[in-house]
Amino acid sequence: MQNASILEVELGGSGGRIFTVRGRKIGPPKKIPVAKLTPESLVRFIASQLRPGIVAIAVSTSGFVTKDGAIEHSTNTHFPPNVPLRQMIEAATGLPAVVMNDLWAGGTGSGIVFPKLAGKRYNCVNFGGGVGQCACEDGRVISPCEFGHSRIVDSIFARRCACGKQGCAEAYTGGESMRREVLFTTDALGIGIPKGMHPCAFLDERFLANDRWAIDIYRQFAFAAGVYMANFQLANPAPVYTLRGSLARKALHLPGVMDWVEEQMSSELSGESWRPKFLFVPPPANGDPNDYDAILGAASMAMKLVK
Ligand SMILES: [Zn+2]
Repeated sequence: MQNASILEVELGGSGGRIFTVRGRKIGPPKKIPVAKLTPESLVRFIASQLRPGIVAIAVSTSGFVTKDGAIEHSTNTHFPPNVPLRQMIEAATGLPAVVMNDLWAGGTGSGIVFPKLAGKRYNCVNFGGGVGQCACEDGRVISPCEFGHSRIVDSIFARRCACGKQGCAEAYTGGESMRREVLFTTDALGIGIPKGMHPCAFLDERFLANDRWAIDIYRQFAFAAGVYMANFQLANPAPVYTLRGSLARKALHLPGVMDWVEEQMSSELSGESWRPKFLFVPPPANGDPNDYDAILGAASMAMKLVK
Protein backbone atom coordinates (compact mmCIF):
# COMPACT_ATOMS: atom_id res chain seq x y z
CA MET A 1 0.00 0.00 0.00
CA GLN A 2 3.06 2.26 0.13
CA ASN A 3 2.52 3.69 -3.33
CA ALA A 4 -1.25 3.70 -3.01
CA SER A 5 -2.85 7.00 -3.98
CA ILE A 6 -6.26 8.51 -3.51
CA LEU A 7 -7.99 10.52 -6.21
CA GLU A 8 -9.45 13.44 -4.29
CA VAL A 9 -12.23 15.56 -5.76
CA GLU A 10 -13.11 18.89 -4.25
CA LEU A 11 -16.42 20.52 -5.13
CA GLY A 12 -16.78 24.06 -3.88
CA GLY A 13 -18.22 27.46 -4.63
CA SER A 14 -15.43 28.31 -7.07
CA GLY A 15 -15.78 25.10 -9.03
CA GLY A 16 -14.22 21.71 -8.81
CA ARG A 17 -10.66 20.44 -8.60
CA ILE A 18 -9.07 17.06 -8.58
CA PHE A 19 -5.83 15.97 -6.86
CA THR A 20 -3.81 12.84 -6.40
CA VAL A 21 -2.96 12.34 -2.74
CA ARG A 22 -0.32 9.95 -1.48
CA GLY A 23 0.17 9.98 2.28
CA ARG A 24 0.41 13.70 3.09
CA LYS A 25 1.63 14.62 -0.38
CA ILE A 26 -0.91 16.47 -2.51
CA GLY A 27 -0.28 16.61 -6.23
CA PRO A 28 -0.93 19.71 -8.32
CA PRO A 29 -4.61 20.59 -8.67
CA LYS A 30 -6.39 20.01 -11.95
CA LYS A 31 -9.53 22.03 -12.64
CA ILE A 32 -12.72 20.14 -13.30
CA PRO A 33 -14.59 21.68 -16.22
CA VAL A 34 -17.60 22.92 -14.27
CA ALA A 35 -19.69 24.57 -16.98
CA LYS A 36 -23.01 22.72 -16.78
CA LEU A 37 -21.45 20.07 -14.55
CA THR A 38 -23.92 17.26 -13.86
CA PRO A 39 -23.47 14.28 -11.53
CA GLU A 40 -23.09 12.08 -14.63
CA SER A 41 -20.45 14.27 -16.32
CA LEU A 42 -18.56 14.55 -13.02
CA VAL A 43 -18.48 10.77 -12.64
CA ARG A 44 -17.30 10.38 -16.27
CA PHE A 45 -14.53 12.92 -15.61
CA ILE A 46 -13.45 11.11 -12.44
CA ALA A 47 -13.34 7.77 -14.30
CA SER A 48 -11.17 9.37 -17.03
CA GLN A 49 -8.60 10.43 -14.40
CA LEU A 50 -7.87 6.96 -13.00
CA ARG A 51 -4.18 5.98 -13.07
CA PRO A 52 -2.28 2.92 -11.82
CA GLY A 53 -1.79 3.13 -8.06
CA ILE A 54 -5.08 4.88 -7.34
CA VAL A 55 -6.93 2.65 -4.89
CA ALA A 56 -9.93 4.74 -3.83
CA ILE A 57 -11.76 7.99 -4.50
CA ALA A 58 -12.65 10.73 -2.05
CA VAL A 59 -15.04 13.61 -2.67
CA SER A 60 -15.38 16.62 -0.40
CA THR A 61 -18.25 18.94 -1.21
CA SER A 62 -20.20 21.83 0.23
CA GLY A 63 -23.74 21.00 1.24
CA PHE A 64 -25.46 18.26 3.19
CA VAL A 65 -24.16 14.74 2.57
CA THR A 66 -25.85 11.64 3.96
CA LYS A 67 -23.97 8.87 5.76
CA ASP A 68 -24.29 6.80 2.60
CA GLY A 69 -22.46 9.41 0.51
CA ALA A 70 -25.45 10.94 -1.25
CA ILE A 71 -25.46 14.72 -1.74
CA GLU A 72 -28.84 15.61 -0.32
CA HIS A 73 -28.58 19.30 -1.08
CA SER A 74 -25.75 21.52 -2.27
CA THR A 75 -26.28 25.07 -3.47
CA ASN A 76 -22.71 25.33 -4.80
CA THR A 77 -22.77 22.33 -7.12
CA HIS A 78 -26.27 23.07 -8.47
CA PHE A 79 -26.87 19.33 -8.57
CA PRO A 80 -30.44 18.14 -8.18
CA PRO A 81 -31.30 16.96 -4.65
CA ASN A 82 -30.42 13.47 -3.40
CA VAL A 83 -27.66 12.51 -5.84
CA PRO A 84 -26.25 9.09 -4.79
CA LEU A 85 -22.75 10.20 -5.80
CA ARG A 86 -20.78 7.56 -3.88
CA GLN A 87 -22.75 4.72 -5.49
CA MET A 88 -22.41 6.31 -8.94
CA ILE A 89 -18.63 6.68 -8.60
CA GLU A 90 -18.17 3.13 -7.33
CA ALA A 91 -20.29 1.72 -10.18
CA ALA A 92 -18.35 3.70 -12.82
CA THR A 93 -14.83 3.07 -11.48
CA GLY A 94 -14.99 -0.22 -9.59
CA LEU A 95 -13.12 1.48 -6.72
CA PRO A 96 -14.34 2.23 -3.21
CA ALA A 97 -15.36 5.84 -2.69
CA VAL A 98 -16.23 8.21 0.11
CA VAL A 99 -18.28 11.40 -0.29
CA MET A 100 -18.30 13.81 2.59
CA ASN A 101 -19.12 17.39 3.54
CA ASP A 102 -16.06 19.61 3.08
CA LEU A 103 -16.15 21.00 6.60
CA TRP A 104 -16.35 17.50 8.04
CA ALA A 105 -13.40 16.60 5.84
CA GLY A 106 -11.63 19.70 7.17
CA GLY A 107 -12.37 18.72 10.77
CA THR A 108 -11.00 15.25 10.12
CA GLY A 109 -7.99 16.74 8.32
CA SER A 110 -7.20 19.13 11.19
CA GLY A 111 -6.15 16.08 13.17
CA ILE A 112 -3.68 15.21 10.39
CA VAL A 113 -2.37 18.74 9.79
CA PHE A 114 -1.82 19.19 13.54
CA PRO A 115 -0.57 15.84 14.90
CA LYS A 116 -0.63 17.23 18.45
CA LEU A 117 -4.44 17.14 18.26
CA ALA A 118 -4.33 13.32 18.24
CA GLY A 119 -6.61 12.02 20.96
CA LYS A 120 -7.79 15.54 21.82
CA ARG A 121 -11.03 17.42 21.62
CA TYR A 122 -11.03 20.43 19.27
CA ASN A 123 -13.44 22.58 17.33
CA CYS A 124 -13.06 23.38 13.65
CA VAL A 125 -14.41 26.70 12.34
CA ASN A 126 -14.55 27.71 8.70
CA PHE A 127 -14.68 31.35 7.61
CA GLY A 128 -15.07 31.13 3.86
CA GLY A 129 -17.92 32.15 1.57
CA GLY A 130 -20.17 31.24 4.50
CA VAL A 131 -19.31 30.07 7.98
CA GLY A 132 -19.44 26.57 9.40
CA GLN A 133 -18.21 24.61 12.36
CA CYS A 134 -17.95 21.13 13.78
CA ALA A 135 -16.81 19.65 17.04
CA CYS A 136 -14.10 17.01 16.69
CA GLU A 137 -12.28 14.50 18.82
CA ASP A 138 -9.19 12.54 17.84
CA GLY A 139 -9.59 13.37 14.14
CA ARG A 140 -13.26 12.47 14.03
CA VAL A 141 -16.23 14.80 13.72
CA ILE A 142 -18.47 14.18 16.70
CA SER A 143 -21.06 16.89 16.23
CA PRO A 144 -22.35 18.86 13.28
CA CYS A 145 -23.88 22.23 14.13
CA GLU A 146 -25.45 25.25 12.47
CA PHE A 147 -24.25 27.98 14.81
CA GLY A 148 -23.49 30.16 11.79
CA HIS A 149 -27.20 30.85 11.69
CA SER A 150 -27.54 31.76 15.34
CA ARG A 151 -28.77 35.34 15.70
CA ILE A 152 -26.05 37.78 16.66
CA VAL A 153 -27.78 41.11 15.96
CA ASP A 154 -31.40 41.60 16.99
CA SER A 155 -32.61 44.67 15.15
CA ILE A 156 -34.87 45.48 12.23
CA PHE A 157 -31.72 46.96 10.66
CA ALA A 158 -29.76 43.72 11.04
CA ARG A 159 -28.24 42.36 7.86
CA ARG A 160 -30.26 39.81 5.92
CA CYS A 161 -28.63 36.36 5.78
CA ALA A 162 -28.62 34.06 2.76
CA CYS A 163 -30.71 31.62 4.86
CA GLY A 164 -33.57 34.13 4.94
CA LYS A 165 -33.24 35.22 8.58
CA GLN A 166 -31.84 38.55 9.76
CA GLY A 167 -28.83 39.13 11.97
CA CYS A 168 -27.21 35.67 11.70
CA ALA A 169 -23.50 35.29 12.44
CA GLU A 170 -23.00 34.37 8.80
CA ALA A 171 -24.54 37.67 7.67
CA TYR A 172 -21.56 39.43 9.32
CA THR A 173 -18.77 36.89 9.07
CA GLY A 174 -19.32 35.05 5.77
CA GLY A 175 -17.21 36.12 2.80
CA GLU A 176 -20.22 36.47 0.52
CA SER A 177 -22.01 38.71 3.05
CA MET A 178 -18.85 40.78 3.48
CA ARG A 179 -18.63 41.20 -0.31
CA ARG A 180 -22.23 42.43 -0.45
CA GLU A 181 -21.65 44.81 2.47
CA VAL A 182 -18.60 46.32 0.76
CA LEU A 183 -20.62 46.88 -2.43
CA PHE A 184 -23.49 48.43 -0.44
CA THR A 185 -21.24 50.67 1.67
CA THR A 186 -19.02 51.91 -1.15
CA ASP A 187 -22.09 52.62 -3.25
CA ALA A 188 -23.71 54.59 -0.40
CA LEU A 189 -20.51 56.58 0.18
CA GLY A 190 -19.87 57.18 -3.53
CA ILE A 191 -16.56 55.30 -3.45
CA GLY A 192 -15.53 53.47 -6.62
CA ILE A 193 -13.94 50.02 -6.45
CA PRO A 194 -11.06 49.77 -8.96
CA LYS A 195 -12.09 47.76 -12.02
CA GLY A 196 -11.27 44.08 -11.76
CA MET A 197 -10.55 44.27 -8.02
CA HIS A 198 -12.48 41.93 -5.73
CA PRO A 199 -14.58 43.98 -3.26
CA CYS A 200 -13.01 42.12 -0.31
CA ALA A 201 -9.48 42.83 -1.60
CA PHE A 202 -10.50 46.50 -1.80
CA LEU A 203 -11.88 46.29 1.75
CA ASP A 204 -8.55 44.91 3.00
CA GLU A 205 -6.58 47.59 1.14
CA ARG A 206 -8.73 50.40 2.62
CA PHE A 207 -8.61 48.79 6.09
CA LEU A 208 -4.81 48.90 5.95
CA ALA A 209 -5.08 52.55 4.86
CA ASN A 210 -7.23 53.24 7.98
CA ASP A 211 -10.41 54.18 6.12
CA ARG A 212 -13.21 54.47 8.68
CA TRP A 213 -15.80 52.53 6.66
CA ALA A 214 -13.44 49.57 6.18
CA ILE A 215 -12.53 49.52 9.88
CA ASP A 216 -16.25 49.60 10.74
CA ILE A 217 -16.95 46.55 8.55
CA TYR A 218 -14.14 44.64 10.26
CA ARG A 219 -15.29 45.80 13.71
CA GLN A 220 -18.71 44.32 12.93
CA PHE A 221 -17.07 41.16 11.59
CA ALA A 222 -14.99 40.79 14.76
CA PHE A 223 -17.97 41.42 17.05
CA ALA A 224 -20.08 38.79 15.27
CA ALA A 225 -17.21 36.28 14.98
CA GLY A 226 -16.44 36.66 18.70
CA VAL A 227 -20.05 36.18 19.80
CA TYR A 228 -20.56 33.32 17.36
CA MET A 229 -17.49 31.41 18.52
CA ALA A 230 -18.34 32.07 22.16
CA ASN A 231 -21.81 30.59 21.61
CA PHE A 232 -20.23 27.59 19.96
CA GLN A 233 -17.72 27.25 22.77
CA LEU A 234 -20.47 27.37 25.41
CA ALA A 235 -22.31 24.52 23.68
CA ASN A 236 -19.22 22.49 22.64
CA PRO A 237 -16.37 23.47 24.95
CA ALA A 238 -12.94 22.61 23.54
CA PRO A 239 -9.44 23.79 24.43
CA VAL A 240 -8.34 24.26 20.82
CA TYR A 241 -9.91 25.72 17.67
CA THR A 242 -8.62 25.14 14.17
CA LEU A 243 -9.47 28.04 11.87
CA ARG A 244 -9.77 27.46 8.15
CA GLY A 245 -11.24 29.00 5.01
CA SER A 246 -10.30 31.81 2.64
CA LEU A 247 -11.57 34.60 4.90
CA ALA A 248 -9.79 33.23 7.98
CA ARG A 249 -6.53 33.14 6.06
CA LYS A 250 -6.86 36.78 5.01
CA ALA A 251 -9.10 38.73 7.38
CA LEU A 252 -7.91 37.21 10.62
CA HIS A 253 -4.31 38.10 9.77
CA LEU A 254 -5.02 41.80 9.25
CA PRO A 255 -3.47 43.82 12.07
CA GLY A 256 -5.68 43.80 15.16
CA VAL A 257 -8.63 41.85 13.76
CA MET A 258 -7.93 38.56 15.56
CA ASP A 259 -7.32 40.53 18.77
CA TRP A 260 -10.78 42.09 18.44
CA VAL A 261 -12.33 38.65 17.83
CA GLU A 262 -10.59 37.19 20.88
CA GLU A 263 -11.52 40.17 23.08
CA GLN A 264 -15.17 39.85 22.08
CA MET A 265 -15.14 36.10 22.57
CA SER A 266 -13.56 36.48 26.01
CA SER A 267 -16.12 39.05 27.11
CA GLU A 268 -18.91 36.61 26.19
CA LEU A 269 -17.36 33.72 28.14
CA SER A 270 -17.49 33.39 31.87
CA GLY A 271 -13.83 32.84 32.69
CA GLU A 272 -10.26 32.44 31.53
CA SER A 273 -10.53 28.64 31.57
CA TRP A 274 -13.13 28.78 28.77
CA ARG A 275 -10.75 30.56 26.37
CA PRO A 276 -9.49 28.26 23.62
CA LYS A 277 -6.22 28.41 21.72
CA PHE A 278 -6.38 29.05 17.98
CA LEU A 279 -4.51 27.19 15.27
CA PHE A 280 -4.65 28.42 11.67
CA VAL A 281 -4.73 25.71 9.03
CA PRO A 282 -1.88 26.56 6.64
CA PRO A 283 -2.19 26.46 2.86
CA PRO A 284 -0.71 23.35 1.23
CA ALA A 285 2.91 23.23 0.13
CA ASN A 286 1.99 23.22 -3.57
CA GLY A 287 0.79 26.80 -3.19
CA ASP A 288 -2.85 26.00 -3.69
CA PRO A 289 -4.85 28.47 -1.63
CA ASN A 290 -7.60 26.24 -0.31
CA ASP A 291 -8.66 23.48 1.97
CA TYR A 292 -5.44 21.61 2.66
CA ASP A 293 -7.09 19.95 5.65
CA ALA A 294 -10.21 18.90 3.74
CA ILE A 295 -8.13 17.24 1.01
CA LEU A 296 -6.10 15.26 3.55
CA GLY A 297 -9.16 14.51 5.69
CA ALA A 298 -11.26 13.12 2.84
CA ALA A 299 -8.27 11.18 1.45
CA SER A 300 -7.61 9.60 4.86
CA MET A 301 -11.25 8.47 5.07
CA ALA A 302 -10.97 6.92 1.59
CA MET A 303 -7.72 5.16 2.53
CA LYS A 304 -9.52 3.54 5.47
CA LEU A 305 -11.78 1.79 2.94
CA VAL A 306 -8.87 -0.15 1.46
CA LYS A 307 -6.77 -0.84 4.54
ZN1 LIG B 1 -28.58 32.71 8.43
